[in-house]
Amino acid sequence: MARKQSHNTGTHRLGFRERVITVFDLGIEGGAIVSLQGRRYANLYVSNGRVGAVTPERADAREVFDASGLLVMPGMVDSHVHFMDPADPTREDFPTGSSAAAAAGVTTIVEHTHGSPVRTTDDLEEKRHYLRDRSHVDFGLAAHAWPDHIDHVEGLWKAGITFMKVFTCTTHGVPGFNNSDLRKLFGQTSRIGIPCLVHCEDETITAAEEQTLRAEGMTGGGVIPLWRNRDAEVVAVASATLLATRHRARMVVAHVSHPAALQVVEFARSLGSQIYAETCPQYLSLFEAEVLDHEAFRKFTPPARARSQADLDEMWSAVHRRAITHISTDHAPSTAEHKQGGDIWDAPFGLPGIDTTLAVLLNAAHEGRLGYEDVVRIYSETPARIYGLFPRKGALHPGSDADVILVDPTAEWTVGDGDILSRAGWSPLSGKRLLGRAVRTYLRGELIAADRTPMTQPGVGQFLPGPGASDKPDA
Ligand SMILES: [Zn+2]
Repeated sequence: MARKQSHNTGTHRLGFRERVITVFDLGIEGGAIVSLQGRRYANLYVSNGRVGAVTPERADAREVFDASGLLVMPGMVDSHVHFMDPADPTREDFPTGSSAAAAAGVTTIVEHTHGSPVRTTDDLEEKRHYLRDRSHVDFGLAAHAWPDHIDHVEGLWKAGITFMKVFTCTTHGVPGFNNSDLRKLFGQTSRIGIPCLVHCEDETITAAEEQTLRAEGMTGGGVIPLWRNRDAEVVAVASATLLATRHRARMVVAHVSHPAALQVVEFARSLGSQIYAETCPQYLSLFEAEVLDHEAFRKFTPPARARSQADLDEMWSAVHRRAITHISTDHAPSTAEHKQGGDIWDAPFGLPGIDTTLAVLLNAAHEGRLGYEDVVRIYSETPARIYGLFPRKGALHPGSDADVILVDPTAEWTVGDGDILSRAGWSPLSGKRLLGRAVRTYLRGELIAADRTPMTQPGVGQFLPGPGASDKPDA
């Protein structure tokens, strides 16, 4: 029977007894749908870019993909990435970084770039306009808190930023907040309800160490753990979380690197605050001593702290027991050329990560450190909830954006520099064998990557206004 269709979701009336039949745009059938409640075999149907139905029944769809043997997850939400665009597109740019995200199973990012910080609503407007045709995935933008711009926070929130990024130490050219500045900032952000992602390293400690190490003429990789030491991180986590607690500010501790920093977060929580703690794969995979051999290729801050497998195990267990609330990449790539451009002091901080983070988590699930449900929780649902993007992102509920990834949990591969689509072109995980990877990525129902290959042009990804935006599009 010929079917006449109206718009995308064909709703038609057939027969003399009126029946309504829905024809979906896309059906993903036979896969195991992963949510925080567990895994269940169901078919997922998409209509107008949103999840239309998740059902054990079969429905009509214009296009069907057989997902038998695959896990079906909401697209990952990476809330801490740096695409350096505009600023330093030779290190990364939006078209490249976001295509790496798409191929890896990340459908939403929240981006901020230290070299071209968003400090005013004009900066935000300009960046948003510049990026309108440069992304393969949906993107929110964070603003940089600046000690003498604290009164801009409310305007930025209403203009659609996702969070404020704050440094407690002057890093990457961004001025650090001392405790007095931080107090003023939290006074504002708690009144408005805007979350702050705080990079915690104590300025007085790092500055004094830097002076000493430079005076001693040290230029090797061994500089990094001495300069950016544990005490600096723990002290800054303590003061920032206590101030956030006292001011009832919404605070995320950026890239918690080791259990002692996490203990301080848990102490602040014991006082009644809800402090979120992010960590990244580098603190779950890399050892402190690697910087001695790999020099600038392990220069990032806070640095890797693990001295034994037991230290890494302790961090994984903190993720599993939810003391760490979520995962981000802190993707901050440089090419080999950038990393080798001078001594350890001159080299840029940062690692590429967006290509491999989901795969690292899937591998951890394969090893039994986490469940696949935890992968969805820590790298999709929780970040979406913290930053006000849930349930549009981070879920496969009817009405959610149809950001869907298909994961092959049995795909065995060894990370190689050739797998890295980011401009970095290398990975600190090269040589590591992993089990599991995303094989198809859909953004609002559109296939944006298949078998690690981007399928669309940049521009398919849209700006996602934060929850404070006064001009929010339909949600
Ligand atoms: Zn960062």
